[in-house]
Amino acid sequence: MTNKFDITRLPETARNFGVYIDGEMRPALSGNTTTRQSPAHDIAVTEIAKCAQDDVDIAVASARLAFDDRRWSGQSGGVRAGVLLKTAGLIRERLEEIAYWETLESGKPISQTKGEVAGCADMFEYASGLARSLHGDSHNNLGDGLFGIVTREPVGVVGLITPWNFPFLILCERVPYILASGCTIVAKPSEVTSATTILLAEMLSEAGLPKGVMNVVTGSGSTVGQALCAHESVDMISFTGSTAVGRNVIRASGDTNFKKLGLELGGKNPQIVFADADLLDAADGVAFGMCFNAGQCCVSGSRLLVERAVMSEFLALLKAKLEKTVVGDPLDAKTQIGAITTSAQNQTILSYIQKGQEEGAQLSFGCGAVKTDAGQFVGPVIFENVTPEMEIYKDEIFGPVLCVTPFDDVDEAIAMANDTKYGLAASVWSKDIEKVLRVSRRVQAGRFWVNTTLAGGPELPLGGFKQSGWGREAGKYGVEEYTQIKSVHIATETREHWIP
Ligand code: NDP
Repeated sequence: MTNKFDITRLPETARNFGVYIDGEMRPALSGNTTTRQSPAHDIAVTEIAKCAQDDVDIAVASARLAFDDRRWSGQSGGVRAGVLLKTAGLIRERLEEIAYWETLESGKPISQTKGEVAGCADMFEYASGLARSLHGDSHNNLGDGLFGIVTREPVGVVGLITPWNFPFLILCERVPYILASGCTIVAKPSEVTSATTILLAEMLSEAGLPKGVMNVVTGSGSTVGQALCAHESVDMISFTGSTAVGRNVIRASGDTNFKKLGLELGGKNPQIVFADADLLDAADGVAFGMCFNAGQCCVSGSRLLVERAVMSEFLALLKAKLEKTVVGDPLDAKTQIGAITTSAQNQTILSYIQKGQEEGAQLSFGCGAVKTDAGQFVGPVIFENVTPEMEIYKDEIFGPVLCVTPFDDVDEAIAMANDTKYGLAASVWSKDIEKVLRVSRRVQAGRFWVNTTLAGGPELPLGGFKQSGWGREAGKYGVEEYTQIKSVHIATETREHWIP
């Protein structure tokens, strides 16, 4: 079904979404729902089913049966690729509809959501090729008596827990890869941004995905997410969110069936600007890195490490850029910084802005909350004189707040970049290739950008070092992550008897 939407107007009534289990949309067993208000407009936009343990049990049973009877994993890579490619086409057809509901629930600018949804279609197209090319190894060098084959097999039922900052993008950085591997899924989006996950389940069915392979349960993390993590019939959890809940997920796995885990957690990502960089390019990149998605981004470039000799010049260029950012109604095509997705996150950002001042950092740009007729918005903020013992230097703020610290040489820049419990991403700005290579080798981060930031494509894996997570999503690694390896040993000559 393709709906035509005027993406510049608010909906007249909240759109109702059920859960998606065994190939059909249905209400939660209790019939309970929650209403989601647009964080930018303060009106009800969606009504979402509120699931409990019994809904999770049914969804997991559906995914378990669909995996065990091999209706998906038993298909050829070619058949799986066909479904993924068709889904990519449906995502492109329904791009505006998906972007509209994503913007209404999350508060992110419509121009951004449209770009993200197009990127998601690309992800499905890329993963379809991986469905066909996934393979193992053979070992023909074990002597004449033995031949070895290493096969990759799908892990099984994957519980997929996704956050509210990139509801559709993060989903699509995982779903096509999981499906390419042959696994089945029970997805649990954040309760505040569930709509587009249900839309994806619908599109997958339309594209020919067998019933029970993609299921979606909605509701709170502490009930539904926790139930998935503790479920004995779930073989793997892919979790994206806070490091604190990531620890819970690890505990739940250890307390039950030792589920395999993929974790993508927080970041406090450095942007390192050397004096020899093109400072105007770097200023634009740093502005984008800190403000993209209102800073609610795990790879946000939230720490600026800048060579002392150019600090004033660079900050002047950066502030001139930030003066021009457009904050406001996310349905307006010109908006660059939309609403803060949840009131809890809004409070968190504002309290860090307060804390930074109390800790003695200098608030040198912006003030925080932006006054509007409705919704919750935060404009860009710069803190200078930020020192390593401050909480704003260490903690992930998840808002458009930049902490600035100067350095004097390459070694100091590297040490400061690594002075964090996280290791998700880093960017470096310099024209000196040798310096760039030295830095890229020594900075501990899963993603590293040179003279750009937040760039990427479905070919390149995502994930973190240190407390930013375990495993990788996307790229060929993204499919392999959802497989386990089996070594098959085949005797090619009669085996010498152990007991003569
Ligand atoms: P959470 O880690 O609480 O939420 C992420 C996902 O986990 C959501 O789907 C949530 O569901 C679910 N969840 C919550 N509790 C549990 C649980 N006990 N077991 C299983 N799943 C659970 O993040 P927050 O929404 O609270 O955000 C807090 C901070 O986390 C942010 O300020 C930011 O620093 C960081 N964060 C990092 C993200 C990243 O991309 N790395 C993404 C989001 C947040 P529900 O939302 O329905 O409760």
